[in-house]
Amino acid sequence: MVFTPWAVKYYFLILKPDYVGYIAWRGLQPFAILANNPITNSELSYYVYEHGHSVAFSIMQSEKYLNWLIYEKVSATDLANLLKDKNGQQHSHSIAPGLLTTEHLQHLQQLAMDILPENFAKTICKTTSPFIQAIHELNLDKHRQNRLILLGDAAGVLRPHIASGATQALRAAISLRETLQSNNTIDAALTEWESKEITARQQLAKLAEIMGDALVLNSPSWQQMDQAKMDQWWKCMMQGRQWYVTDYEDAN
Ligand SMILES: Cc1cc2nc3c(=O)[nH]c(=O)nc-3n(C[C@H](O)[C@H](O)[C@H](O)COP(=O)(O)OP(=O)(O)OC[C@H]3O[C@@H](n4cnc5c(N)ncnc54)[C@H](O)[C@@H]3O)c2cc1C
Repeated sequence: MVFTPWAVKYYFLILKPDYVGYIAWRGLQPFAILANNPITNSELSYYVYEHGHSVAFSIMQSEKYLNWLIYEKVSATDLANLLKDKNGQQHSHSIAPGLLTTEHLQHLQQLAMDILPENFAKTICKTTSPFIQAIHELNLDKHRQNRLILLGDAAGVLRPHIASGATQALRAAISLRETLQSNNTIDAALTEWESKEITARQQLAKLAEIMGDALVLNSPSWQQMDQAKMDQWWKCMMQGRQWYVTDYEDAN
């Protein structure tokens, strides 16, 4: 979701998020109605298929939900057509729950049945209000204009593969507090904070881009993979970087 309040528009007008060439079909299904479905046995499930992958994990809101995503490549030219909702309204980045057309739902259900295990596909088909998120990225090289600063989602948009939006917002806020405490002037603190922020976000943006490329845009031929090839593929993708979800460390 892209958050553009008036100040961002005013000071950072020239920058727009770029569409990266794929969308995510998304949905939430309460655990309560998934009783005995094997998909609930795992906190995080990955499914891979030709040219993409799907992920499902549990989240807590008022109750426990299965949060699922299916990535699908959609060309920039086809995107505008896809982002028309059931009322004929054109969207630029997403279609909200409840607004998918019958054609959207049929396509999603067929896609799920074609690429996913039956129990997961059926879960997707039964989800009441799936939605579409067109994947965009925006990596700013400026987070500050005098004493106006951008942090969290306002400071940029990364591809969702590294699931870092919430932690980045928190990290930036904590870092701001610490930097303000350790500097004598606000301006000196903001200069230091912006520099640290840009470095931290650029590293994450690169990882998000690499993962999107490896998992969706140029994924390997999964059928040909064994454990050794998977290990090698992961090492190449991470290139020594670390991701909090895994404890893999690249020796090279
Ligand atoms: C569907 C979806 C799934 C996601 N999954 C994950 C995930 O698994 N892991 C992860 O780390 N991140 C995830 N994210 C991203 C994460 O939610 C965001 O990156 C994070 O919430 C950003 O925090 P923020 O404080 O910058 O913005 P927000 O959480 O959006 O907070 C902005 C706040 O400002 C308020 N606001 C807006 N305009 C005004 C105004 N004019 N006046 C006053 N208040 C205003 C809004 O109501 C909101 O409360 C997901 C996002 C989406 C949309």
